[in-house]
Amino acid sequence: MSRIRGIDAKVQKNVFQSQQKRKNACNEAIKIFKNEEHCFNKDDTEKQQINELLHNLPTLDKIFEVHRKIGEGTFSSVYLGSLRRHAILPASERRWFAIKHLVPTAHPARIEHELKCLQDMGGKNNVISVDLCLRHFDTIVFVMPYIPHRKFSEYFGEMDASELRQYMRALLVALRHVHSFGVIHRDVKPSNFLYDRENRRYLLVDFGLAQRICVAPDEPPVPLNSNKRVRDEMEDDSTPGAKRMAVDLTVCPKNMDVSEPIPKRLACPPKVQIPKATAVKEVGGACLCRGAAGACWGRGCAAWPAARAPRAGTQGFRPPEVLLKWARQSAAVDLWAAGVVLATVLANRYPFFRAADDYSALAEVADLLGTDAVQRTAEALGRRVMTSMRRPGLCLRKLSARLRRVPPAPPAVGTPPAPPGAPAPPGAPAPPAPPASKCVGCQLARDLCLCPDENVPASSFDPDLVVAGFPDSAFALAARLLEPNPSLRITADEALKHPFLATED
Ligand code: ADP
Ligand code: MG
Repeated sequence: MSRIRGIDAKVQKNVFQSQQKRKNACNEAIKIFKNEEHCFNKDDTEKQQINELLHNLPTLDKIFEVHRKIGEGTFSSVYLGSLRRHAILPASERRWFAIKHLVPTAHPARIEHELKCLQDMGGKNNVISVDLCLRHFDTIVFVMPYIPHRKFSEYFGEMDASELRQYMRALLVALRHVHSFGVIHRDVKPSNFLYDRENRRYLLVDFGLAQRICVAPDEPPVPLNSNKRVRDEMEDDSTPGAKRMAVDLTVCPKNMDVSEPIPKRLACPPKVQIPKATAVKEVGGACLCRGAAGACWGRGCAAWPAARAPRAGTQGFRPPEVLLKWARQSAAVDLWAAGVVLATVLANRYPFFRAADDYSALAEVADLLGTDAVQRTAEALGRRVMTSMRRPGLCLRKLSARLRRVPPAPPAVGTPPAPPGAPAPPGAPAPPAPPASKCVGCQLARDLCLCPDENVPASSFDPDLVVAGFPDSAFALAARLLEPNPSLRITADEALKHPFLATED
């Protein structure tokens, strides 16, 4: 009897919770809705855009009220909408929609593919669904369920271990689902993984760059159409404001024969630290570097076989295989991006990687993972990365502790030292020499050193160690996701079984 009452109480609690969740979601939409007048005054252009959209797409106007803009991406504007026939209902009882208006310049095949992804995979496992697609000439909208969410930058610093675990679990469930359809999302990042923090609901959105995973081992992933979409600015190596390289890197095709002597006058300098202006030496369209090891900034350098590989995605979330223009990219691309999200929360730094171009991005990766790891990966992918100096990499645990201003983590392994002055047990071996006060690698004092412990792999962890409230297993998972070699990187399914995520809260 008491058990039945217990079940009854649980059912009532669940019903109450789901009602509460729906109410919260509505409240969020109402807040936005009530803000409408104020926002319209504030932003007449937005009002104009909405009027224009409704004018260009009369069916949308017939069915929906479009209230205000709730998001803007590189290729769309997203609006909050509700059904016209619900206009008489109180705001809390209306259904709310996100209406994504795609830029008219988007390639039709690309739009069709995004829609197909939503139809095939959406509505399950934290992947956005689509309720309706409307088109009139070049005006196209996707009508999708609305999920209230805040900007990642506003909450990531407040996440604790348990919230991070749930967040990462939800993201990896979505990725496992998408990958099971043979699709790479290619643009995993916080603004495409919407999080309704109040109700702990999650949605992976934006399949605008999604790509089919290649089946034939020697072919690049199937491009969906010729319309290349790259997030943010097209990276331009000559961008004046581009972040300087922390480590100078040159990427050369591995099979290039550099043994042939190169006449001094024609050769690029062997060192890569060269000013761009003097490094570009092109005569009659052919670069004079002749593909020698060294930095060549010559655009269209004839000595470089054109490396063709998909590089769609957002800077800061692109993995080494994309930066190295490796053609056979796989779902592992998304796992790297998930690793960047995890590292962002652990280190409390957003954006985690800030480089403005692919070379600097690779240098940042080498700074974190070490030049050896990046070079080994390049080798495995048939590329060669040359650096002007060796970098040991950084320990994410120590880095996070430093950035969060908490004391550095104690050594992960070994027994704690005996208290000072304690007598040595009879027959015990001589105590080990006290650790050197400086790290031999970086020459910094031990408590300032960020070098990884070469004897302890970053992917192993100490279950008793906690850094700023985050268990060591979270850092170990980050190391598996930020594995530079895509074929060694953990899959979404494996990641979900990782001790950090498999642990019950
Ligand atoms: P783009 O392809 O232009 O990047 P997205 O699909 O990523 O477009 O949407 C851009 C933004 O619009 C998102 O970052 C988010 O803030 C908002 N948005 C998109 N879909 C929804 C949704 N279903 N509910 C609430 N907001 C959304
Ligand atoms: Mg987006």
